Amino acid sequence: MNNTSTPAAFKNYINGQWQSALIPATFESYNPAHPTVSVGTFPESTTQDVELAVDAAKTAFPNWKATPAPKRGELFFKLANYIQTQKEAWAREMATEMGKPYTEALGDVQEAIEMATFMGGEGRRLHGFQTPSEFPNKWLMAIRQPVGVCGIITPWNFPIAVPSWKLFPAIIAGNTVVFKPAEQSPLMGQRMVEAFDAVGFPAGVINLVQGNEVAGKALVNHPDIGLISFTGSTATGTWIATRCAEQHKLCALELGGKNACIVWEDANVNLAIEGLLWGAFGTAGQRCTATSRLIVHRSVKKAVVEGLLAKIPTLHIGDPSIVETQVGPLIDADAIAKVERMVATAVNQGAIVLCGGKRFTEAPLNEGFYFQPTILDNVLPSMEIAQEEVFGPVLSVITVGSLDEAIAIANGVRYGLSAAVYSQDVGWALGVVERLDAGLTYINAPTIGAETHVPFGGVKQSGNGHREASNLVLDTYTQWKTISIETTPTLRKAQMD
Ligand code: ADP
Repeated sequence: MNNTSTPAAFKNYINGQWQSALIPATFESYNPAHPTVSVGTFPESTTQDVELAVDAAKTAFPNWKATPAPKRGELFFKLANYIQTQKEAWAREMATEMGKPYTEALGDVQEAIEMATFMGGEGRRLHGFQTPSEFPNKWLMAIRQPVGVCGIITPWNFPIAVPSWKLFPAIIAGNTVVFKPAEQSPLMGQRMVEAFDAVGFPAGVINLVQGNEVAGKALVNHPDIGLISFTGSTATGTWIATRCAEQHKLCALELGGKNACIVWEDANVNLAIEGLLWGAFGTAGQRCTATSRLIVHRSVKKAVVEGLLAKIPTLHIGDPSIVETQVGPLIDADAIAKVERMVATAVNQGAIVLCGGKRFTEAPLNEGFYFQPTILDNVLPSMEIAQEEVFGPVLSVITVGSLDEAIAIANGVRYGLSAAVYSQDVGWALGVVERLDAGLTYINAPTIGAETHVPFGGVKQSGNGHREASNLVLDTYTQWKTISIETTPTLRKAQMD
C-alpha cells in the first residue's frame, strides 16, 4: 500500500469492496499534538451501513466456517508478514493520529504481528477433547464451533493491538466480523482492514464500518450479530452488556482499571521508580492498565517519591512522532478537561500536588492536549482520584504501614484489572499477589506490559469474566458442541442403564 497515493478520504469496507456510507456524512480524525491537522476523512456510518455489513458477514459465514482451520491459519501467517512490512509506517501514522509516542506505537503494531502468528498456529490446534463414556463402545467428544457474526467495537488507545486481540481469534475460529474502530483512530482501523484485504481473506469475512456510537449501537442491536466484543469505558460496557442480555447475545467486555502498585519496605527502590514512571506516564497514562495508585510503605516513601520527582524532569515530553519522545498528548479536549477537573477536585479534598497538576500552557506544547506528569500526595483511598479512572498522567500516592492496610486499599475500588508489588522477597510477594483483586499481576514490574500468550482481563467491574489473548481467548469466540456416538445396535440410557 503506497501511503503517499492514498486519498485522504477513506471508506467503509463491506463484502470486499471499499464503499462510502449510504448517507454521505463524514467525520475527521485529528492529530492530538496539532489539533487543527486532520489525518483523514471517514464515513459516519448509520444503521443502514451496519445492516449492509452484517448481511455481508452473514453471507460469508458458512463458507468461512467450512474452510479448514489450518487453511484459515495460513492466511494469518501472511497477515503477520504483511503487518511486519507496514510496522514503521503504521507506527508513524499512529503517533500522528492518536498521540502514542513512536517507539510505543511500534510495540502496539508488534502486538498485532505476534497475535497474527499466534492465531495462525491456533488454526492447527483449536483443540476439542474426547472423553470416555459411561458405556463401552460409545464415544464422547466435544468440538469448538464458531458463534457466527461477531461485532467488534474498539477504543483508540491501542488502535492496532486491541483490534488484533479481537479480530484475529474471532476470525481464526471461523466467525465473520463487523469491525467498528473508535472514532478517534479510524485511520488505524482502515490500515488493519487493508492488511486483511491485501493478503486475500475472502470477501465478507471482515467488514469495516467507521463511525461513532451510532454505528456501535446499531451493531449491538442487530439481531444477526451473535456476539459483541467490546473494549472501552465501563459506562458504555454496562450499556452494551444490558442490551446484549436483553437479546440473549454473547458479550465480552474489557473495561476500566484503577491499578495499584504496592512498593514495600524491602523493595529495590530504583527498580520501583523506573516501573512507576513507565506504568504511570507511558502512553501519558492512557492505558486501562496504567499505574494510577502508588501504595507505598511509609519507610520507603521518601526515597520513592524523591526518586520520582528527580526523574520526571528528564522525561522527553513532546511530539509523539519524534523518536525520543516518552510522553505525548492526551487524546482530545474532553480528555484533558476531565484530568484537570479530577486533579482540582483532589486538591480541594486535601491532596497535595508534588509536581505537574496542570496542562502545558507554553509553546510549543500548548498547541496540543499535553498534561504535565503529575504526582499527588496525601491522597486518601476514599477520594474520587483514588477511586475512578483518570486516563491521564496522574499518580496518586497513598502511604501505609501494614500489609493488610495496603491490600485493603488496593482492593477497595470497583475495578480489578492490573496490580503490581515490589519486594525483593518474591515468595512473600507471591502471597500478596494471591490476595489482590486483579486479573493481571506483576512482581517487580509495572502494571503495564501484557504479553499475547497469557490471559488478559480483569475482575470486578473491569470486565465480565472473559479473557483475551492466550489460547483461552478462543473460549470467547467459540461455542462447545458435544458429540455422542453410539456404536452398538442398542438403545442405552445414560444414568439409567
Ligand atoms: P472511551 O472512553 O475509551 O473512548 P467509549 O466506551 O466511549 O470509550 O468508546 C469505545 C468504543 O465504543 C468506540 O468505538 C465508541 O464509538 C464505541 N461506543 C460508544 N458508545 C457506544 C454504545 N452505546 N454502543 C456501542 N458502541 C459504543
